[in-house]
Amino acid sequence: METGQVPLARSRVNQPCAACKMLRRRCDNNCALSPYFPTEEIEKFACVHKVFGASNVIKMIQMLEEERREDAVKAIVYEAMARVRDPVCGSAGIIFHLQKMVHELRSQLETTTAQVSELRAQRDQLQGILMNAHVDPLFYAHNRTSQDDHQTIAYDPMMISFPNLDQMEPFNM
Ligand SMILES: [Zn+2]
Repeated sequence: METGQVPLARSRVNQPCAACKMLRRRCDNNCALSPYFPTEEIEKFACVHKVFGASNVIKMIQMLEEERREDAVKAIVYEAMARVRDPVCGSAGIIFHLQKMVHELRSQLETTTAQVSELRAQRDQLQGILMNAHVDPLFYAHNRTSQDDHQTIAYDPMMISFPNLDQMEPFNM
């Protein structure tokens, strides 16, 4: 794709960056903003210029080493856009909103966790009832066949009697 990239790079050299285009000044190789604000991103630069001012942004960028500038510009753009959307709180408003969401989700999680342990306790209680259900020896004696003498007693749901449910403690529903 090298052949496709060359004309794009050339066109960027010939075109002023978004900052120079907006401020109506000549954009040359020394332009500090051109790597971060290509011509087509004029709205992004307008936002940054409105909040911080172009000269302040240039000063901030020049204070940093080359490799940290891109991240700094991303942060500046993010803050500027948040400040335009919410002039009072800016990005702090987004942080407050997300913190509120985290708080709500935490309490939802706590409620759900409590429900899960309650349901587990109910399941264990039901399993306990099933384990305590016993084979009625009289029922077995009356229904035994000659075949039973040669077989081990296998689980048969018809031969199980349950404890009296009325006498049991109610579940905590
Ligand atoms: Zn420029």
